[in-house]
Parts: sequence; C-alpha cells; structure tokens
Amino acid sequence: MEEIFATWVSNENVRDTSSSGGAFSALAVEVIGAGGIVYGAAFDKDFNVVHRGVETVEALASLRSSKYVFSSFASVLPEVKSEVESGRRVLFSGVPCQIAALRKMLGREYDNLLCVEVICHGSPSAGLWNLYLDRLCQEHHRRRSDIAAISFRDKSTGWKTYSFTVRFSDGSAVSHPYTDNPYMMAFLRDLSLREGCFRCPFKRGQSGADITLGDFWGVETVAPSIDNNRGVSLVIVHTARGRKAAANLRRMASVDEHDVIIHNPSYARTAKEPPARKPFLKMLAKKSDPIAAMRIYIERKPMKRLKLRLKYLFSR
Ligand SMILES: Cc1cc2nc3c(=O)[nH]c(=O)nc-3n(C[C@H](O)[C@H](O)[C@H](O)COP(=O)(O)OP(=O)(O)OC[C@H]3O[C@@H](n4cnc5c(N)ncnc54)[C@H](O)[C@@H]3O)c2cc1C
Repeated sequence: MEEIFATWVSNENVRDTSSSGGAFSALAVEVIGAGGIVYGAAFDKDFNVVHRGVETVEALASLRSSKYVFSSFASVLPEVKSEVESGRRVLFSGVPCQIAALRKMLGREYDNLLCVEVICHGSPSAGLWNLYLDRLCQEHHRRRSDIAAISFRDKSTGWKTYSFTVRFSDGSAVSHPYTDNPYMMAFLRDLSLREGCFRCPFKRGQSGADITLGDFWGVETVAPSIDNNRGVSLVIVHTARGRKAAANLRRMASVDEHDVIIHNPSYARTAKEPPARKPFLKMLAKKSDPIAAMRIYIERKPMKRLKLRLKYLFSR
C-alpha cells in the first residue's frame, strides 16, 4: 500500500508559512471543506504548545508550522473520540506517539478518521521550552505577554537555512539562523529530547498513521529540478484511507524509501541518547541559566566547552 512522493501547495502564503511544502494544510482544507474538524498542535496565549481542534480554513493557520515542543494533547482526546464516534470527518495530526495513543484509546478503525503523523526525531519537553522562553524574554527585557508570534521555521531566510524568530507586539523581533540558536541546536543534537524518545517504537509508520509527512531533505540530490529552497513536503501513504485523502495532492516526484532514510534517518531510526545529555540535564536541575547550559553542551569541542563553562561560572 505504501506510496512516497514529493509535493508542495500552490498557495504561496501557505507554503511560506508551513515548515515544508504545506502538505498538511492541503489535507486539512479538504476535511474542513467536507464539514469536518482538524486537530493539531497550536500555541496558546502564553505560547505553550497544546493540541486543539479547528473547523475553519482561517483557523488552520494556528496549526500550521512545526513547534518543536511536546504538545499537551491528552486532554483533547475525549473530544476527538466523541467527534469520531458522531460520524463527523476528523483529521488528527501529531507526532507518532500521539497518533498511537489516540488509536489505542479508540480501539478500533473508523473510516471517518484520518491520522496524519509528522516524521519526528524526538521532542523537547514543555518544561524545557518554558525555561528557555522565560530566559529569552528576560535577556531581551520583555515579558511573555509582549510576544506576538513565534516561528521555529521562519523561512524568510530560506527553507534549508531557516531561522528561529520571536516577534514582539511593538514590531521588534529576535531572530537567529537555526544553527546559531541554542534551543534549536540542543533539539537537533538530541540533547533536549524527552527520555522516551530514545526508545520510540513508532518509526516508519508503526504508529498506525494513514499518512506520514516530513521535509524532503536531500531533494537537491534526489530530485534537483523541483528544489527552489521554498519547501518541499515528503508524503508517505500507508493505508487505503491515506491514499484516498492524498489523491488531490500534486505528485511532483516519486521517491524511493531508501532515499528517504538516507536523507531523513529519523523516519526509520530512533535517536540515540548523546553522552552530553545527562550532564546537560544535571546543569539545568541546578537552576542554571538554561541558555548558558545549552550553549555549553551544544559545543562539541571539549576545550571550548570547558572555556564556556568557566566563563559562565565566573560571570555568576
Ligand atoms: C517535534 C517534531 C520533530 C520533527 N522532526 C522531523 C524530522 O526529523 N524530519 C522531518 O522531515 N520532519 C520532522 N518534523 C516534521 C516537519 O517539521 C513538518 O512538521 C512536516 O514536514 C509537516 O510540514 P507541512 O509543511 O506539511 O505542514 P506544517 O504546517 O509545517 O505542519 C503542521 C503539522 O505539524 C503538526 N505539529 C506541529 N507542531 C507539533 C508538535 N509540537 N507536536 C505534534 N505535532 C505538531 C501540526 O499538528 C500539523 O499537523 C518534526 C516535527 C515535529 C513537531
């Protein structure tokens, strides 16, 4: 049943505000158009990440784009169950363990439920996100209530060279290329992943998702003619229901699973806990400055790491 292809949406605003090519929005618009409801991860007013259901195309914008924080989702599951049991069309999206949790709770198949997972190499906890965001606000003499928007995948600097951006309500912003942002680098180096992510059993569609979405990393070598650095989605269809839902997506290129795994190993492989993770968490537990701790432990050269640590100790 498996089919893998590359796509992006033709609406440029949707593509630019999506992490990849906007495949999620295309699937969601179809469900909303049929009177359905779409669940996914959004920011609440304090910039915590929570799962919620949306019923209009305008409200879909809140679910768009990746938030690299484990979303609080358990409290929405009873509502999802009741919508599914009422016979309404439901799209539930999330990281693979969230899809597996919903499917386990429902305990049976429903033709009106479409489960869409995103490839996930692991997810930092809400606790760490809160420490980071509070410290970032403190460094910039702002309050959390001054924040107007946050993008983990700001594509104004390019899809592959994206930035992490916080916009404040007075129009100012803090923006770092992801490679210079300590939160993003601690995430990408697996330092800040939750414990359970290192034992994830839901790789390669094992969550029971109908469709997996991801970034088509490696597009420049696998299908260079479709790469313009604005974002390409990878769509992996696992079931007949998924195939039906994905029928209207434009197939820009067929992709081999081997190429997916080479360029996006997180699809198939569970992250390994890096040796620096425990010392990093220990430093955080001592109520150290979380941004300084991230900077120290994302440094790979031991001498440079020691220098950063000493500099931090003497600055206190
Ligand atoms: C924690 C995390 C790790 C990821 N790791 C990888 C990876 O290693 N490789 C890769 O190719 N892609 C990864 N992704 C997925 C990728 O970033 C895009 O989300 C995906 O390609 C969909 O993009 P899109 O353009 O179709 O839609 P977008 O609009 O960008 O994505 C929106 C979708 O992402 C979901 N989502 C956003 N934040 C969260 C969250 N915190 N928890 C649960 N669901 C969320 C929404 O519910 C919605 O379904 C990861 C995503 C997350 C959240």
